[in-house]
Amino acid sequence: MKLKSLGLSSVQVPVVGQGTMGVGGYYQRDVTHDAAWVQLLRRGIDRGLTFLDTAEIYGAGHSEELIGQAIAGQRERVIVATKFSNDHSRYDQVIRAAEGSLKRLRTDYIDLYQNHWSNPQVPWEETLSAMEQLRRDGKVRFLGLSNCTLSEARQALAYVSPSALVAIQQEYNPLERTAEQQLLPFCEQAQLTCIAYSPLGQGKFAVPGNEQHPLRALIQKYRCTLAQLVMAWLIHSAPVVVIPKSGRIAHLEENAQAGDLVLEPEDAVRIGEIMRPPVVEIPTASLGIAADPHRPSYFTLEEALANPLNLVPSPRELAQQLTGGDILKPVKVKRHPHPTDQTSFLVVDGKIRYWAWRIAFGNQKPIPVLVQE
Ligand code: NAP
Repeated sequence: MKLKSLGLSSVQVPVVGQGTMGVGGYYQRDVTHDAAWVQLLRRGIDRGLTFLDTAEIYGAGHSEELIGQAIAGQRERVIVATKFSNDHSRYDQVIRAAEGSLKRLRTDYIDLYQNHWSNPQVPWEETLSAMEQLRRDGKVRFLGLSNCTLSEARQALAYVSPSALVAIQQEYNPLERTAEQQLLPFCEQAQLTCIAYSPLGQGKFAVPGNEQHPLRALIQKYRCTLAQLVMAWLIHSAPVVVIPKSGRIAHLEENAQAGDLVLEPEDAVRIGEIMRPPVVEIPTASLGIAADPHRPSYFTLEEALANPLNLVPSPRELAQQLTGGDILKPVKVKRHPHPTDQTSFLVVDGKIRYWAWRIAFGNQKPIPVLVQE
């Protein structure tokens, strides 16, 4: 398993770690597979997947509890990263959240403490100073940011002690490459580790699909699976490490092997070209909003501006980030099943970003979208 330095620190992390969203439940506690999860996490650690990423929200804390069981007796072998939720961004809330995580993880220090999502309603300095305090108190070794904008990352780097901030965690996979525009170059320049979350697109690179897959020749050349090729491509980029989540031993084994796969530079370039996501710009007026009974959203600009669901960040706050020069991920759309002259696509993911774009730029500027077939 190849290792990379965690930011500018002397700590080495494996290039492939273990994500744990869904371990012990997604956003609710699920205790039905505890023994199997602990066994799987331990198996991963034995195979070198010693960098574990979790969050206080995963399984409503149960993911941290299972990690606590898995690392018992071998704490010094692992690097544990966890995150506090954005409704815990006030100074006292950050401190309390960390105490809760420490208890559930059954440890007296967290290696990497990250804010899960930013909360523009709390001064950034207030959140950062609580994170800094935890580090000064020895409860946290290093700080990381997750789902941040470039401006937030720059401010954080200027605010916290030099060498405290070591990592930025962002979604990054062949279908979601927004990080390449601002955050990845920033990580390179500031020598921060980029922790690529959802590196396998949440399971979209399971099998090549068919004999005609454009990466088949490279899959054969490296004698690997498509998922392994994807991970090798991501970690080919200097600052990047990946944290795939896996619920199967066979996948764990594959992921551990991917940590040894080294691509020739021209192959990495080729993979990047072949797998470029089909992001296109289309007029905002041609988009409708897909209804989703599980995730309430806004259907009019007036609703989005009023933000009755109290979403954080609100569409207005995201719009400010856009006008300030930050780049947000493209929204995902699918073709309207019953297109009209006005509406040909429906937004299925990134609805708040869509409204933010409308608030920021009106109907004048086409919006980048990823069309899902
Ligand atoms: P992911 O790791 O991209 O994908 C997980 C899916 O890939 C699962 O269905 C898994 O199947 C499958 N898989 C794993 N290894 C595979 C392999 N070798 N071949 C084929 N398929 C494989 O998705 P994710 O869970 O969203 O992201 C990973 C981690 O990133 C999370 O667990 C979490 O720790 C972190 N994350 C952070 C944020 C954030 O906001 N900071 C957001 C999302 C995720 P099996 O389970 O069947 O093995």
